[in-house]
Amino acid sequence: MEKVECIVVGGGLAGLSAAYGLAGAGAEVMVLERGDYAGAKNVTGGRLYVSPIRGFYPELWEEAPFERPVARELITMMGDGAHTTFELASDHLVAGPPQSYTVVRARLDQWLAEKVGEKGGMVVPGMKVDELLRKDGRIVGIRAGEDEIGADVVVVAEGVLRLLAEPAGLAARPDEKDHALGYKEVIELPAGVIEDRWNLNPGEGAAQLFLGTVTDGMMGGGFLYTNKESISLGVVVGMHAMKADGREIESHQLLERFKELPQIKPLVAGGTVAEYSAHAIPEGGIAKVPRLYGDGYVLAGDAAGLSLNALVTVRGMDFAIASGYHAAQAMLRAKAAGDFSAAGLASYEAALRDSFVLKDLETARAYPQFMEVPRLFRQYPTAVSRLFEDVFTVGPGPTPPLVKKAWRGVKRDFLRPSTLQDAWLARKL
Ligand SMILES: Cc1cc2nc3c(=O)[nH]c(=O)nc-3n(C[C@H](O)[C@H](O)[C@H](O)COP(=O)(O)OP(=O)(O)OC[C@H]3O[C@@H](n4cnc5c(N)ncnc54)[C@H](O)[C@@H]3O)c2cc1C
Repeated sequence: MEKVECIVVGGGLAGLSAAYGLAGAGAEVMVLERGDYAGAKNVTGGRLYVSPIRGFYPELWEEAPFERPVARELITMMGDGAHTTFELASDHLVAGPPQSYTVVRARLDQWLAEKVGEKGGMVVPGMKVDELLRKDGRIVGIRAGEDEIGADVVVVAEGVLRLLAEPAGLAARPDEKDHALGYKEVIELPAGVIEDRWNLNPGEGAAQLFLGTVTDGMMGGGFLYTNKESISLGVVVGMHAMKADGREIESHQLLERFKELPQIKPLVAGGTVAEYSAHAIPEGGIAKVPRLYGDGYVLAGDAAGLSLNALVTVRGMDFAIASGYHAAQAMLRAKAAGDFSAAGLASYEAALRDSFVLKDLETARAYPQFMEVPRLFRQYPTAVSRLFEDVFTVGPGPTPPLVKKAWRGVKRDFLRPSTLQDAWLARKL
């Protein structure tokens, strides 16, 4: 059997980040990617938080093909017949090195694959791995069709579905309760139109999240990211929530309906749909992260459940890149020690525990449970709009004092036993 030092399964951000680190240090690495090119099959909403990963491979981020630095953050609460948008426009978001950029994965992943190649790593597109090979209890390589290739270490970065990791006993089968489904379109619009519609300086970008009627009250939300000459528009909904409500909504119906909402229609007017995609997202949080290493393997990125939906921030790509980086460092330490057993690779999980990846997931431990609160996705977005309606309304008779109007709304919609119960749960967020 042909043998290399390291096989990386999956040319997404986790796999490519691991390969870049390994190849850069002179290790022999082969990335096997089932898509026609790295990024061909990959879906994201569209915003990469670069601040957490800038320290890893700092030479990369200056020249990465990002779309726009995010200078405006918007959150829209969509109620029945009304919506409220909170908007933050801050120089601090883009002063100095921006904290986050919108991205198009087909572009970003292909570029990173080229960088791996420049460092001497091999990226093989169009190669689907069918099985992780085990011998005497340890992972010793992969099978792709008729080909078997051995490796000292396999970096399993196959993404969310774990079609290889689960049968090999490296991680549990994804449970629908811990996953959401995202549906997305890329809609082309001229740069000037994007800047006018989101009130942006030339070159700057906006990120907009939507809660409420967008998912018909189900766990989830909508997103919109402005790219250079397109927008990424999508809906994410909990798989469990969709089933529990017994709905028969097809993917295209959710997204189509979102686009038809009066709040969205003017934003996409005149645009041309260039791309449609659907993808699962791990949302189980830290409680569902499996053991990240074993004899001859490490798990990275979505395959390891490293993703975080914290309502106002959605992250996964920075975790994927960070886990790839730490996987490479652990593999290099194992190589130096000549020990590719679980003990030799244990420093991978230890490094992730010391880093923002597992620390942030630990901080956010309560989110998956909080996301189960049904009122979050219908009642509260409507209540917020009703509160502002009260505040802004001048009726036919005398107008009550502002604070009294607001307090009436708070008492009506927020000082209820169920809301106080939710607030109690929210204290851990
Ligand atoms: C709708 C949606 C919105 C999101 N929004 C954001 C966001 O705004 N910000 C953010 O940071 N994160 C976001 N995420 C999460 C983020 O996209 C993921 O966390 C990230 O892509 C994970 O990277 P990865 O490399 O682990 O997996 P992937 O990007 O899924 O890469 C896995 C790779 O493995 C390949 N592969 C799989 N099986 C095999 C096989 N058997 N053989 C060979 N190759 C294989 C695939 O083709 C793919 O290239 C979003 C996700 C979705 C779906």
